[in-house]
Amino acid sequence: MTGAVQHFSSSYAEARRKFLAAAGAAGGAIRHHLHPLKGPSGEELATDIARFGPANASRILGIGSGTHGVEGYCGSGVQTALISEGFAADVPDGTAILFIHAINPYGFAWDRRVNEDNVDLNRNFVDHSKPHPENPGYEELADAINPRDLSPETMAECRARMKAYAAAHGPRAMQHALSAGQYTHPKGVQFGGHAPVWSNRTLRAIIRAEMAAAERIAFVDIHSGLGARGGAEIICTEPETSGAYKRMVEWWGSSVRSTVGGGSISSDVPGSIPVCFADELKGREVTSCGLEFGTVPIAEVTVALQSDNWLHQNGGHENPKAAEIAKLIRDAFYVDADDWKEQVTDTSRWTCARALAGLTS
Ligand SMILES: [Zn+2]
Repeated sequence: MTGAVQHFSSSYAEARRKFLAAAGAAGGAIRHHLHPLKGPSGEELATDIARFGPANASRILGIGSGTHGVEGYCGSGVQTALISEGFAADVPDGTAILFIHAINPYGFAWDRRVNEDNVDLNRNFVDHSKPHPENPGYEELADAINPRDLSPETMAECRARMKAYAAAHGPRAMQHALSAGQYTHPKGVQFGGHAPVWSNRTLRAIIRAEMAAAERIAFVDIHSGLGARGGAEIICTEPETSGAYKRMVEWWGSSVRSTVGGGSISSDVPGSIPVCFADELKGREVTSCGLEFGTVPIAEVTVALQSDNWLHQNGGHENPKAAEIAKLIRDAFYVDADDWKEQVTDTSRWTCARALAGLTS
């Protein structure tokens, strides 16, 4: 046991407090990017960053949390645990470590995977001046993916339609329809947005301010909700022939899977975070991955996402079911158990240490 459990929190406000306290105590340079909205208790929302190492570092390891709001319970706990146990205490020469806390603070604070615009941030980094990617499977299944009510009858009917689609087109096509993002139903699940959202613009500003001078950049974005409980996959959104994929395998071995070609638990999604890093850091060596931790079976995650979306099209926090559904979504993306917290911290520590060694080799 490493004592990691104490660094996890049961609200965004608590997580932010612990992160800032740990980063301050460890001597990090802290900056706040304030969000225009407030949290459920009227608390300030922000993406906070803590930087360790020189301003002119040529190599930077970034570690992110909360791209998917509620997944920040996992990523924030890991970040605070790593900082507290001294992960950034001995940064190699010419190197910096940058923790980016709560990339989507609104979703984190309000127990949603999406942001204040109902946008999945990890589908928002597309070029919005061009036609948006199409998802014909989603179009076909939109009524089943976004049920009109949550009655057992309606939910069973929706499940049957999705099951029939999977039988006809294969489970991979079903997953793509459900999770690869869509740009046609602003009130549906997995909406990628029609313009860069606050967290998109903020992350770009952070990358420009903190990383533009570096030559070698790695980014580990911590996610949860896909895969077996406590299991981990390092998700590469580039093909297996790319330099980034090859570096990842060198650093992390068999935990790495590419979404291009179908080896990953994740669909090949457009507009994800690595696109942002590639955009902003052209000409530099960029190794940007998602570190995904498993929680509960995917069927439960799907019901949680459907219920959350239904809730927010039906009164949101004013709806009498709000607390129940917030718990459903939190439980789908965060396992509130000591062994899981230790496991995700151990894997993250190893992943980040290997990245640091790879960057400085
Ligand atoms: Zn995620």
